[in-house]
Amino acid sequence: MKPAIIVHGGAWDIPDEEVKPHREGCERAVTAGWAVLDGGGSALDAVQAAVAAMEDDPTFDAGYGAALNAAGEVELDAMLMDGASLRAGAVAAVRFVRNPIVLARAVMEQSEHLLLVGEGAWRFAASQGVALCSPEELVVERETARYRQLRSQASSTTRQFFQRQPRGTVGAVAIDWHGHLAAATSTGGTPLKLPGRVGDSALIGCGTYADDATGAVSASGWGESIMRVVLAKTICDLMGTGFDSKEAAREGIAILGRKVQGLGGVIAINPRGQVGWAFNTPRMAYAYKIHGAEVVTGI
Ligand code: ASP
Repeated sequence: MKPAIIVHGGAWDIPDEEVKPHREGCERAVTAGWAVLDGGGSALDAVQAAVAAMEDDPTFDAGYGAALNAAGEVELDAMLMDGASLRAGAVAAVRFVRNPIVLARAVMEQSEHLLLVGEGAWRFAASQGVALCSPEELVVERETARYRQLRSQASSTTRQFFQRQPRGTVGAVAIDWHGHLAAATSTGGTPLKLPGRVGDSALIGCGTYADDATGAVSASGWGESIMRVVLAKTICDLMGTGFDSKEAAREGIAILGRKVQGLGGVIAINPRGQVGWAFNTPRMAYAYKIHGAEVVTGI
């Protein structure tokens, strides 16, 4: 099987001046994931490497640079899933962790659980030697300014952010030389979300899903809508019934818009290594690499 990887850097109304850093950040992430695949590594390791690269990049709403919640704090959600075994690990509403995708992997491999939240998640990080950081280390000036501006407005909803405000959840899906699939997603969630709010990214089948038999998907967008149509699993199921990855991604986004007036974007890969993507937000940043071809970026 020839390896392939596709990443996204969030589905939202990316302003023109942010296009370049989004393209470049997605390209760096694909390159990091591709290095793993090219070296014979697993799809799971590749999606983790790609997502960790974007968590470290302040351009995106994940890890360092994440959006602030209603209390002015960073709370992170992340999940990865192995399509070969259907094992998965996730963390939600976690603080003090710079790379929640690394912690999600530890949950998958070092605990008997799938999802840990809040204090339990960061305490588990400490017990597993996953690096902790101070809350301030995750905050960038851009997000503090945005928080102040949003707080000064009389009313705002989490849905509006996917129309006009910067967002940048990150995700990756890949296939390796052995034909195994994996998916990973990481996010700071929606600006001004209530403390303790969990979005689609860390919920299995909603923002993230992988099954070698059907496909792998990572989503971005208004989480409250994505969860209601269990978007990632819905798209995997479509691939399992004969839709190719592009058609399945498009149909999934159509379902999201039609059934719950949702807003978002997805990346997908099928067991033949075909990549697909779709979004109904003004823009979504993405990049992919297929064996034997150059990296392609889009926005
Ligand atoms: N889907 C994420 C959430 O609702 C946000 C995003 O994709 O930007 O938490």
